[in-house]
Amino acid sequence: MSEVKQDWREEVVQRLRGVKYPGFSRDIVSFGLVQDMDMEGTDLKLKLKLTTPDPAIPEKLGKEIRDALKNYAPVKSVTIETEVTPPQATATTGPQGIEGVKKIVAVASGKGGVGKSTVAANLAVGLAQSGLKVGLCDCDLYGPSQALMLGCREGVRVEEGTERIVPAECHGVKLMSMGMLLGDDSPAALRGPMVTRFTQQFLRQVVWGDLDVLVLDLPPGTGDIQLTIVQTVALDGAVIVTTPQEVALVDARKAIAMFRKVNVTILGLVENMSYFLVPGTTEKHEIFGSGGGKREAERQKVPLLGEIPLDPEARKCGDEGKPVLLVNPKASSSKVFFQFGQSVLKILFPNI
Ligand code: ADP
Repeated sequence: MSEVKQDWREEVVQRLRGVKYPGFSRDIVSFGLVQDMDMEGTDLKLKLKLTTPDPAIPEKLGKEIRDALKNYAPVKSVTIETEVTPPQATATTGPQGIEGVKKIVAVASGKGGVGKSTVAANLAVGLAQSGLKVGLCDCDLYGPSQALMLGCREGVRVEEGTERIVPAECHGVKLMSMGMLLGDDSPAALRGPMVTRFTQQFLRQVVWGDLDVLVLDLPPGTGDIQLTIVQTVALDGAVIVTTPQEVALVDARKAIAMFRKVNVTILGLVENMSYFLVPGTTEKHEIFGSGGGKREAERQKVPLLGEIPLDPEARKCGDEGKPVLLVNPKASSSKVFFQFGQSVLKILFPNI
């Protein structure tokens, strides 16, 4: 008898794994939304736990669940009980650490295209090169780039039995990308509560193992999504990336203000694309102006952690999926990336 019982459960779970949460490429089972199930005759009783106040979601899920079970003879009807936990309940739990992870650092920018992902990638591999156990999480839901920058072709793997996500590993760094879990039909903007739940679940469902540092590559900007992530995870600090010109500095200021609002320490400012060194000479061209990052760091009373040159080698390596610091340590940008990594290391672990 118990074998028969086991059989229907397995079959139902298997079929529910085909039901994606609206807007995501992840299914409702691996999201942990199916709380309980039972059979009364031919009526399948399902208990779902959701956080969204949007009534369209349970309706859509109900239809898809029934469709998924349509051709399974033992189930003639499905009764779904939906428990909605108000999103505030998750939001008020406040920022939380991640088990096994010693330090969590966010790399942020007020503006896209300033080189934030390049800085995050080179920081992660630089720390790993120094002997630390490092993870890198690309939190950009809509424009993830770390898998490309680290040349990582491995996809995510879900650990059997536990539903936990196993990160890929590239250049000695454990890599995870939130965007990997979103489908092409993702909504243009996720709502705050959804992001909170997604972020909390996501970061904690990843099998990071023991990490010295987890680097979060935040999406550019200072909107709700960034604020939600920053409020959800207990950060040890943030690195702000900017370029020298005023348009970028204005947005960097906004990013600093956002972190300060939620009491996150600013570890420092990194000025990227600071100057161009004419190859083979010491001739410097300050294409985007000079001293903007330094002045801003002084104004904000935070360290200037590096002035990274505009380096064709950095761009080329990024495109080829090999962080410049690893493949060409002699490149003009690599020397500064190295120093920058060492500065972050000293701030995070002053006793090493
Ligand atoms: P963001 O994450 O801020 O959007 P990226 O790190 O994706 O920016 O960088 C945007 C582009 O600029 C990429 O093609 C990258 O290779 C290039 N890039 C970033 N930093 C440098 C640099 N110091 N020198 C040359 N190219 C760079």
